[in-house]
Amino acid sequence: MSSAQALYRLQEIELALLRNQKRLNEITAILADSHAVAEARSQAEATQQALAPLQARTRQLELEIQSNADKIRATDEHLYSGRVRNPKEMQDMQQEIQSLKKRGANLEDTLLDVMLAVEEAEARLQAAQAQLQQVTADWENQNRQLVDEQTRLKAEQARLHQQRKQALEAVDADSLAVYNALKPRKQNQPVAVLEGDTCSACGVEQTRAIISETDRGATLAKCLSCGRILVRKTARG
Ligand SMILES: [Zn+2]
Repeated sequence: MSSAQALYRLQEIELALLRNQKRLNEITAILADSHAVAEARSQAEATQQALAPLQARTRQLELEIQSNADKIRATDEHLYSGRVRNPKEMQDMQQEIQSLKKRGANLEDTLLDVMLAVEEAEARLQAAQAQLQQVTADWENQNRQLVDEQTRLKAEQARLHQQRKQALEAVDADSLAVYNALKPRKQNQPVAVLEGDTCSACGVEQTRAIISETDRGATLAKCLSCGRILVRKTARG
């Protein structure tokens, strides 16, 4: 293996390490932030909060209707008890019964409206709770997959670190210095494959001299345009 090929192998391993690390960082961020679940939960809570006053209003109306009916019954009983003889008083009581009945009818209408609103709010609550359940299940499922992926990637990283150590042993100090100096300026890709007579990184055709230097592999040939170390890819990659 030439120095360029050893560097290329090192680069492939380091790029894989970077890719895995990027994904591991993403997974860590996702696992820390269950935004969808939080949103569904607050939606369910808001729906619950909207329902409570409607239920209270229903109970209140039912009590008012009950008390109104009691008053009608009491007035009615009094009116026909035989104790009221004064026609004016009897007429007043009949009028009061009428007005109580009217009030009762109004209360019943209002109660119907409120009960309808309660039904709608209950349906919304049920939907919100179902949604929360679904989102939570999805989240747990996604977490399981993410945790599995995280475990797999961590093992992969350990393997790659081991491979990197071995790859470094095959690289001489001078070549490594050139590689490390170029790395930050070439987006972590200081080595480019020479494809035919073209640098695969920048697409510029190389001179005959550079091509034969690359093919010999005795020294580090560099792309005349982007300055990357050129390597001829072997069959085993
Ligand atoms: Zn180039």
